[in-house]
This record gives sequence, structure tokens and C-alpha cells, in this order.
Amino acid sequence: MSATTKKRLIDSPPVTTTDNLQKEITRLKRLIALTPSVTYITDIKNDNTCIFVSDNIREIMGHKPEEMTGNATFWYENVHPEDRDETVRQSEILVQRGGGIVEYRFCTDEEKYYWIEDRFRVIYDTQGVAEQIFGTWTDITERRNTEITLRSTNQMLELRQNEIEVLGKLNDHLYVCNSVEDTKKVIEHYLTQLFPDSSGSVYMFDQSRSMLEAIAGWGQLQTSEELFVQEDCWALRQGKMHLVNNNITDLTCSHVQNGNEQFSYICIPLIAQSDVLGLVHLATVSNPEDSNLPQGSSNNTPEELATNVSKQLSLSLMNLRLRESLKTQATRDPLTQLFNRRFMLEFLDKELIRTERNKSNLGFMMLDVDHFKQFNDVYGHDAGDAVLREVATVLRANVRGSDIACRYGGEEFALVFPDMPLQQLMERGEAVRTAIKQLRVSHNSTAVGTISISIGISMFPQNGNEATGLITKADKALYQAKANGRDCIVMSTADDK
Ligand code: GH3
Ligand code: MG
Ligand code: MG
Repeated sequence: MSATTKKRLIDSPPVTTTDNLQKEITRLKRLIALTPSVTYITDIKNDNTCIFVSDNIREIMGHKPEEMTGNATFWYENVHPEDRDETVRQSEILVQRGGGIVEYRFCTDEEKYYWIEDRFRVIYDTQGVAEQIFGTWTDITERRNTEITLRSTNQMLELRQNEIEVLGKLNDHLYVCNSVEDTKKVIEHYLTQLFPDSSGSVYMFDQSRSMLEAIAGWGQLQTSEELFVQEDCWALRQGKMHLVNNNITDLTCSHVQNGNEQFSYICIPLIAQSDVLGLVHLATVSNPEDSNLPQGSSNNTPEELATNVSKQLSLSLMNLRLRESLKTQATRDPLTQLFNRRFMLEFLDKELIRTERNKSNLGFMMLDVDHFKQFNDVYGHDAGDAVLREVATVLRANVRGSDIACRYGGEEFALVFPDMPLQQLMERGEAVRTAIKQLRVSHNSTAVGTISISIGISMFPQNGNEATGLITKADKALYQAKANGRDCIVMSTADDK
């Protein structure tokens, strides 16, 4: 030790224990103020009144220490009202256990709420009675917000994943749909899942392409007509999606039914290969405060999801139309739209089995236009075609839902009447013959001559139990009708068998 130092020590006033303590306290306070957390002490025996709070509460939470110390209600009043009960409940449990951590929202002096991690420990007196709580408050707002964002991102991802799966299943099932009926079931099943809070309909153009017909619908709201014309829809007119946030104030389509209810909706045209096939209409009852369009099950924007769904529906409706037209091509005669011979033969085979099982009967009629060659020669082939179409219309009008009318070939037609007694069959033949004789066909706005037909009839079981037999018998009877002078009906006799 140097002489100067020795001197200073001798000159200094004696250092007391109180001074040392004071210094120690100041140093500790400075140290505490440097930490990123607020340190506090409360008096358990005195209503948990705060008896100390570190100075850094000013920077961290914007409060003044003097507001807190001595105030028994300050803490409680500043905890977020939604968190108060739970925080008090948890804190009481933790105090029993000697300490712990509790998280809640705490108000700053700017009336903003921070997320606080309150980490505390109970201090006991010499008798082991809880005396004080020593604790720290750390601002964990950032962490909590990140957690919340992460959680909602995860939830959104899960929903998105689910949405992708449902879209996949929708696609798979639509792909194997063979009929509008199948498609309806699939659409209703999956679109209810994809748009749980919305109602909607899927439309397809009818055969004539003049009207849009609802082929499927789901949900509680009925916001669109079942049948309407293309001009009634803004989306179909423009060939693009039409969004309406509020049906009361916005421009709505004419097919939309505006009752008292306020709703938002989307109309998306179903287009495949530049061909408009139909429409998707999706509606959601809207809360007057927000302007949400129909929502998907995930956070996916409703337009995105509806557009994805519409793309799949477009393709599937195109497939369906293609299949229907292939089916029509395979079973129908293009000139008359009656069934073709192949279809009739299959139908006849099946019906004969059923008829035999039911011990019922079946009538078969073969019809041939009289002197048709001559008709063609006089009026031309096109006029002949027009006559064949008119004959087909008469035949269609004279068969029941369970019967079939077919173009057998050329100017020959066949009718199959399952479960029809002989008397009724003869009457039906007579009705057809008379109706055809009364046909007044015009072609190119010019009336063409009248026609007649000859009819040969055979019956199951009287004239045979197989399709070929019945056809041959009816053909023979038809030949006889021609021989009898045409424009008449001949019934195959039982001994013809
Ligand atoms: P019949 O009273 O003995 O039945 O005399 P027909 O002239 O009707 O009979 P024929 O078998 O001699 O002639 C059938 C005619 O039907 C010949 C053919 O040109 C005509 N025909 C067949 N298919 C069509 C068609 O698709 N369109 C038109 N316009 N004519 C057809
Ligand atoms: Mg013929
Ligand atoms: Mg003929």
C-alpha cells in the first residue's frame, strides 16, 4: 500500500454499516433498473399492496412507480378485463405453491395492452407465514403475437390441406359421373363441405341452350331462381365472375331473389374450351358490419376457392355433356331422335325376360310408310326427311313412359309396348295409323302430300318368346297389311307361331 492511500484511509470518516447498506441498496436498484424486466414486491399480509416497483417500469410500461406503490388495486385494475378472473385464479393457486409464472395482458399508460409474463416467488417470514411476493414482469407481446400468428397460420394450413383433399375427392368423383343425377349428388356432397357457411346452386344449360337449369343446390338460403335465361346473369353476359358484397345496395343479377335478407354472392360462369356450359352461384348471409363475400372453409379467398371449384365443375360438365351426347349418338337415330334398332333390340331382350317372369304380355308393332319411294320422287328427299320427322313425333306422342319408339331403318319404325293387353294394343295401333293419315306436313313453307302407314303386330307370348321371332311375325303381318291394300293394321295370328 502506498503512503498516499494510507493517508486517504486515515482521513476518511469512518464507514458505518448503514452507509454500506445504503450503497448496497442503491447499487441493487441500479442493477434492477438495468434488467429488461420490471421488478416488484407486494405485501401479502396487506391486501397484496405493492411496496416496491423498479424504476424501469417507466420505460417498460409507461407507469410511474409512485402510482403503484401503496396502491392495492392498481395491478388488478390494469389487467385486461378479459384476463382478470383467470389471472387471479391462477395466481392464487401459484401463491399456494410458493410461486410460478402467469401470463396476461396488462394496460400501459397509453391505454394499450401488453402481454406480460409475471414470474414470482413467495417469501415467508421466520414462522413460515407467506409475507411478500417478489416478482418480475417481462413484456412478451412480441412472442405472444408470433405464437398467435403461428397458431392461426397452422390452422389455416390445416384447413387448406383439408380443402385440397376435398377438392381432390370432388374431382375424382365428378370424373366418374355418368349422369346429371350422379353429378348433382357429388356436387351437393362436396360443396357443402367446401363452403360450410354458404348456400349455392350449380346450373347447366338445358337441351335447347336457351335456359339455365339448376342441377344441384345446397345450403339454407334460396337466393337464385331455379330456371332463368342467360341475359338474367351479369356473369354470363360478361363471361366473367360477378361479385356482389351487398345485394341490397349493389348491382344484382335478375335471377337473384332479393328478399328482406342481406347477403353477398358470387356468380361464376362455367366455361370449358371457350364454351359456356353453366354457372355456379354462391351466397352468404352478410353481417351488416362486414362485407365478406361467401367464405371458403379456409382463409383462402372465396373468389380463389370458388374459381378452383368452377374450373373442375366446368371440365366435369363438359365430360358429362360429351358422354350424354355419345350415349345419344349410340342409342338414337340422328334424323328422328327416336331410339335406333340396336337399342330397341337390347330393350326388347330385357323386357321379354321381365315380362316372362311377371307372366305378363308385350306387344310389338312394325310400321312402314306406304309408297314412300314415290313420295320422295314427287316431293324430294328433304321433304321425305321432314315427313319421317313428323311420323316420329306422332309415334313419340303415342307411347307411354315404359314403351319405346324406334326407327328400325329407312321408312320403317317399331314400337314396343310392355304389359299391354291385345285390345289396347290394337287401339293404340289404330290411333297411330289415323294420326299419321291426318298429318299435314309442310316443307319449305309448302304443304306436301299426305301419307299413310301399314302396321303389323305381334305379341308375346302368343307369337313367340324371343325378340327375333316377334320381329319376324310382325314383319310378316306388315307384309300382309301391304298386300291388303296398305293403310291398315294386321295382327299376327296365334297359329303363326
Ligand atoms: P311400300 O308401300 O311397299 O313400303 O313402298 P315404299 O316405296 O315405301 O317402299 P320401298 O322399300 O320401295 O322404298 C322405301 C323408300 O324409302 C326408298 C328410300 O329412298 C326411302 N327412304 C329410306 N330412308 C329414307 C330417308 O332417310 N329419307 C328419305 N327421304 N327417304 C328414305
Ligand atoms: Mg320399307
Ligand atoms: Mg314403305
